[in-house]
Amino acid sequence: MADYRIFRAAPLTRAIAAVVAAGGSDAREAGLVAENLVEANLQGHDSHGIGMVPRYVAALLEGGLHANRHVTVKLDAGALLTLDGNAGYGQVLGKEAMELAVPRAKQHGSCVMMLGNAHHLGRIGHWAEMAVAEGLVSIHFVNVISHARVAPYAGADARFGTNPVTVGIPLPGGPPFLLDMATSAVAQGKMRVAYNKGEKVADGLLIDDHGHPTTDPRYVVVPPWGALLTTGAYKGYGLSVVCELLGGALSGGGTWHYEDHSRMRVYNGMFTVLVDPARLGTREAFERETRAYLDWLRQCPPAPGHDKVRIAGEPEREWKAKRTKEGIPVDPFTWDEIIAAGEKLKVQKDVIERLASGA
Ligand code: NAD
Repeated sequence: MADYRIFRAAPLTRAIAAVVAAGGSDAREAGLVAENLVEANLQGHDSHGIGMVPRYVAALLEGGLHANRHVTVKLDAGALLTLDGNAGYGQVLGKEAMELAVPRAKQHGSCVMMLGNAHHLGRIGHWAEMAVAEGLVSIHFVNVISHARVAPYAGADARFGTNPVTVGIPLPGGPPFLLDMATSAVAQGKMRVAYNKGEKVADGLLIDDHGHPTTDPRYVVVPPWGALLTTGAYKGYGLSVVCELLGGALSGGGTWHYEDHSRMRVYNGMFTVLVDPARLGTREAFERETRAYLDWLRQCPPAPGHDKVRIAGEPEREWKAKRTKEGIPVDPFTWDEIIAAGEKLKVQKDVIERLASGA
């Protein structure tokens, strides 16, 4: 990892918070945004970590993202909650939305919560983790209004974003199951890395600008635009449409159907269902079967080339343990972009460097 910088989480958070604060956010908001992004890096998801800051700054400057906005309650009918994010920071809105939904799920046994018009909500797993920590099942379908980068099955150009699906299940006596996945076959950030290194990528991930399969990542990094394919062919495509129809249309936030690829803002619409497993009358079976089933999975012998069978959420916990101990590596390209973003908001490079190094 030549030229990579290694940062500890706490000082890096302070440096990122300084940039966000320079964009007009109050100290609480700046702290929440920075903590959320650094947490994504800690969990191994660099594509949703501090590397988003330049995009956020661009969105702020173009007027698509607004500092110090909060959720507006559009409907509060007990177990049904509809919220509008007012194009504020997703890191604040996601927290506020979950803080409203969790007590309702505990009171009524479940809660359906819609959040439309939020700026980028980051790792959706972050919001599932909040509910799971309270013993709730947390299900999310999320659409992305940004640049379309993913093609529908059998289609020759991009029509939607990497629309994530997330399911968190609290497991009695142990860490949760946390499936948190984009519906594209691969993250766009990984294609940029391959492109920067001049490498080809695996078969089955991309199409070129005429809809032909390609292994050249340039088609999702620079024009002429091709597209990413969905994970699991038409199955991932179907899930992605569910994200648009529930996360986008039903939330009131809107679906992706624009030709304009110029704007930098990234809006998310999120459909969330929270369920309290303690209220369904199956608690004993849930606890017994969960334990038995996980043992069953973990006893599966690893296939050649693999060390063990994991459940969703385990890779992130392994990353977090490693990066908490060893620090967070940041590639030079990403770091330079963050410095440049800070400078656009009049934060000097040496201020960011000093804060990030913990000096
Ligand atoms: P990924 O492919 O790294 O992991 C997807 C899921 O598979 C995770 O739950 C992970 O725990 C699990 N997993 C990974 N390796 C495993 C293994 N060996 N065994 C068992 N399970 C395993 O993640 P991704 O699809 O690239 O998504 C990354 C993040 O991007 C997510 O947090 C997602 O919410 C986020 N995202 C956000 C947006 C947005 O607009 N806000 C859009 C797309 C994705």
